[in-house]
Amino acid sequence: MKYRFCPICGSYLNTKDKSSLPSCPSGHYTVQSQLGVEVAPIIARKGAIVLERNKEGGWNLPTATVQASASPVHTIRELTQSIVLCEVNVGALVNLRSTKNACTLFYEAEPENTGTLAIAHQWFSIDSIPWNNITNNVHREVLVTWVQQHVSKTRTLVSVS
Ligand SMILES: [Zn+2]
Repeated sequence: MKYRFCPICGSYLNTKDKSSLPSCPSGHYTVQSQLGVEVAPIIARKGAIVLERNKEGGWNLPTATVQASASPVHTIRELTQSIVLCEVNVGALVNLRSTKNACTLFYEAEPENTGTLAIAHQWFSIDSIPWNNITNNVHREVLVTWVQQHVSKTRTLVSVS
């Protein structure tokens, strides 16, 4: 059921900006995202990936919630472009993990260059990924699998724990 009017007071449900969900101006009701889906791009170019630093100093993949009005690929492109500040090619769905509350879709995303990054983001070569500081266990698992698929068999990954 998708309401256009507040079920409490009958006001038209407004959307504050492109990324927010429609809500009653008096705060009675907000349309819920029915998908419960988030996306996490593996932003990769020339053997390096982008990680995002959190407040505690840990590193994880950036994530964004897929709004009811947007597709996962659109959400990945918007999120990634806001981080790398250039055009991005969104690649394949590389993994899908679901938890109690949400489902996370992991996509490859290749920016056109490795220029300016948004603050809180940094490029890491595959050999220098800070594995012990990746605080989201699901992100770490997905990245380990992705890296193993991308590193040639003649190289050995050091201490992927
Ligand atoms: Zn209302």
